[in-house]
Amino acid sequence: MSVIDELIENARRYGADPEGGYHAQERTAKPGRHLAIVACMDARLRLFSLLGLDEGDAHIVRNAGGVVTEDVIRSLTVSQHLLETQDVMIIQHTDCGLVKSTDEGFDALMREHAGRRPSWALRAITDLEANVRESIAAVRESPWLINAGEVRGFVFDVAKGSLTEVSP
Ligand code: ZN
Repeated sequence: MSVIDELIENARRYGADPEGGYHAQERTAKPGRHLAIVACMDARLRLFSLLGLDEGDAHIVRNAGGVVTEDVIRSLTVSQHLLETQDVMIIQHTDCGLVKSTDEGFDALMREHAGRRPSWALRAITDLEANVRESIAAVRESPWLINAGEVRGFVFDVAKGSLTEVSP
């Protein structure tokens, strides 16, 4: 049985179990807490547990690094204009794969793999807190966003399981 087959089995139980399973039938696509979260895809970052979120509460936009790319702005624009979110929370973390990499090294890897470099940059992170601040600024300065709420950034410490706000 492959990993995905195993997960399909879990999903069968999820929909059928009224106790521990799905219970967002009454929620709409508009997040109840009017919140969007931009976070790294890191597998140790379990956002629903960490933040005490429930289904229907928030949009979660994840990518490598939790960096604000053009596509993150696209999602946030949909989130704010069409689905009425206001606050934006940005969460990056210690021991991130992007802190341990460089754009140059990644380009070399891609040249070896595909014979050319991709049109997009890896967006390696040298200074985690500075990167969180840049991400906050990218959201605040985007002309596409309404930005009626707070925009705040955080670092999750994967060793301690703690969340620390980065001062703007
Ligand atoms: Zn990461």
